[in-house]
Amino acid sequence: MAHTLAPLPYDYAALEPYIDAETMKLHHDKHHAAYVNNLNGALADYPELQSKSIESLIADLNAIPEAIRTVVRNNGGGHANHTMFWETMASNAGGTPTGDLAAAITDSFGDVDTFKQRFVEAGVKQFGSGWVWLVVNPEHKLQIVSTPNQDSPITVGSQPILGNDVWEHAYYLKYQNRRPEYLNAWWNVVNWQEVSRRFAAIR
Ligand code: MN
Repeated sequence: MAHTLAPLPYDYAALEPYIDAETMKLHHDKHHAAYVNNLNGALADYPELQSKSIESLIADLNAIPEAIRTVVRNNGGGHANHTMFWETMASNAGGTPTGDLAAAITDSFGDVDTFKQRFVEAGVKQFGSGWVWLVVNPEHKLQIVSTPNQDSPITVGSQPILGNDVWEHAYYLKYQNRRPEYLNAWWNVVNWQEVSRRFAAIR
């Protein structure tokens, strides 16, 4: 079964003014769509891989035939990363995490503001294209990590529960070179309810 591009769970303009509608349209309809199409193209000659979930494909890249491993890494990662990205944002969102997730963030980082600051710093420092993540690592601890390109934390055994895309295609139309401004504004669209749901599902 081919991988499919799910529609955005909200309108292109839903995340205005923090993420503009044109960026959302290009990002979802062109960039994410291309990852899905390229992934399906790579899997076309490998029917035994076609029934695997996107998560299981990228969790064990060594099990992917070498001929398509890089394409699956880049485009499978791109598909998984963007699917989570859309779902962990919402309009009228932002605010602060609550419940078990808030307690775990406080336990790991001191307080929520310190967590946000360190997350932004990691996103600013990621050289070139990539992602900054909040993951549950293999030791079951919350951790901030960054990855280059479309590499997923899933590939190294961590479970991402929140991630921000720091490729220029995610912010350049509105923020140009001002990545820190984008990273800080992005907290206004984080869907903490969905992040909490993902956190609870792991533990
Ligand atoms: Mn992207």
